[in-house]
Amino acid sequence: MRVPLTTRDFLDRAELVYGDRIGIVDEPAQPAPSLGEVTWREVARRGRALQAGLDALGVGAGERIAVVSHNAARLLEVLLAVPSSGRVAVPVNFRLSQEEVRYIVGHSGARVLMVDPELEPALGGVSAEHRLVIGEEYEQLLRFDAEPVPWAEPDEDATATINYTSGTTARPKGVQMTHRNLWVNAVTFGMHMQVSDRDVYLHTLPMFHCNGWGLPYTMAGLGARQIVLRKVDGAEILRRVEQHGVTMMSGAPAVWNAVLEAAEQWDGEIPGRDRVRVVVAGAPPPSRTIARIEAELGWEFNQIYGLTETAPLLTINRPRAEYDDLEPEERAKRLSRAGVPALGTRIAISESGEVLAQGNTVLAGYWENPDASGEALEGGWFHTGDGGTVDDGGYVTISDRKKDVIITGGENVSSIEVEDVLFSHPAVAEVAVIGVPDDKWGEMVTALVVLAEGEEVGEAELVAHCRASLAGYKVPKRVEFRDELARTATGKIQKFKLRESFWADSERQVN
Ligand code: AMP
Repeated sequence: MRVPLTTRDFLDRAELVYGDRIGIVDEPAQPAPSLGEVTWREVARRGRALQAGLDALGVGAGERIAVVSHNAARLLEVLLAVPSSGRVAVPVNFRLSQEEVRYIVGHSGARVLMVDPELEPALGGVSAEHRLVIGEEYEQLLRFDAEPVPWAEPDEDATATINYTSGTTARPKGVQMTHRNLWVNAVTFGMHMQVSDRDVYLHTLPMFHCNGWGLPYTMAGLGARQIVLRKVDGAEILRRVEQHGVTMMSGAPAVWNAVLEAAEQWDGEIPGRDRVRVVVAGAPPPSRTIARIEAELGWEFNQIYGLTETAPLLTINRPRAEYDDLEPEERAKRLSRAGVPALGTRIAISESGEVLAQGNTVLAGYWENPDASGEALEGGWFHTGDGGTVDDGGYVTISDRKKDVIITGGENVSSIEVEDVLFSHPAVAEVAVIGVPDDKWGEMVTALVVLAEGEEVGEAELVAHCRASLAGYKVPKRVEFRDELARTATGKIQKFKLRESFWADSERQVN
């Protein structure tokens, strides 16, 4: 028998098996009215009301619903209920500028746009056929008096979400995730992390990023409670861990640095000792951070590696039984690798040292971009753009990046996009944007600029110029002026040379 693997399975099971349980605890402090504590039965009922509301708008299966929101229970509802009805959810990075969001809404062809009330003033200029602010307007869309029209032909290969990501091009690309991709990612992730109905998951990761890495589905399917955290703050994370008995969290290294900092000021025992497991990804965390998480917080450290294009789970590094008696330093060293392939994933290294992947979590393609899809999937392997090695035990280590992408605080920045904006300033003759290692952000966006003859502008003006059209995290934190930039004989800027002096003390070329 073949039953299509669709995201609907997760919420259906939560309702059937764990209906009376509190499923989601919404953020209390937010501009929309908080939903408070919601049972899985109520989450499912609200999900159906949302689907019936979209029916009433005439927005059917296959159509796109874009949502720009900080973490919120209503965003979780959209992720759980919109794809389950055959429609496509497009969760958008809330840090993007109005222009960037406009591009994504237009490119995805979204007929519905939902906007967080806090973001509304900045995104007022982005329009869609049906546009609503999350809160009262969202509640008015819900139709509790009608049964939703069932998805006529559930199909595991249908697109469930489109997640826009900054790659090496100036424009973000829409990663097309099928139901099958999300299903396999959620189930494999849950299996490797041994998620159970006893888990309490705190959303320390932005839910737009790879659909909260797919964990909203895992947690729903197994009846685990999900606690919404709207904004990352180290001390607040510790308070929520204590208050809700949190057992699992995930995020980029910057999140755990903030927690470690807050822990230094924390009065009494750190909550969650020997109970919490954290999953880290986005950049290779230094072994020192790993050792500190385990020693100072008493939380189990896990690492995964993957991309928006791979749902994201490709490899996982969980402390295995053999590590139990290792010295903390040695244990941290083992855990600093990206990990071994998750069940069903194959990893290979190309001749040029690029990490390649095959598996059921790999994207179907980029939305309306066959050229980019063909390139990424050439030869039947997904090309990650990351440089790495595999050791004897099958452990992958990411050592550098082949693609022109900077990862700062867990978010991707396309160097070319920032270069384009700087270049549009009349005083700029040449520019190269690179990532340089930074303790707080992992990598810091840095611009090396050659001014046109006779021009005189300072760092502040160029930064302000970038701020006018780029999301805040993409704006260079540092601008250095140079007389010339290293070039090859054919005139191509040699970024690796420009990076050299900044990375001289680092073992790897990524941070
Ligand atoms: P994104 O698509 O925004 O999730 O970014 C994916 C990129 O993050 C990958 O291509 C890697 O460059 C980087 N990345 C993710 N996880 C890790 C990890 N564990 N170690 C090193 N780099 C990572």
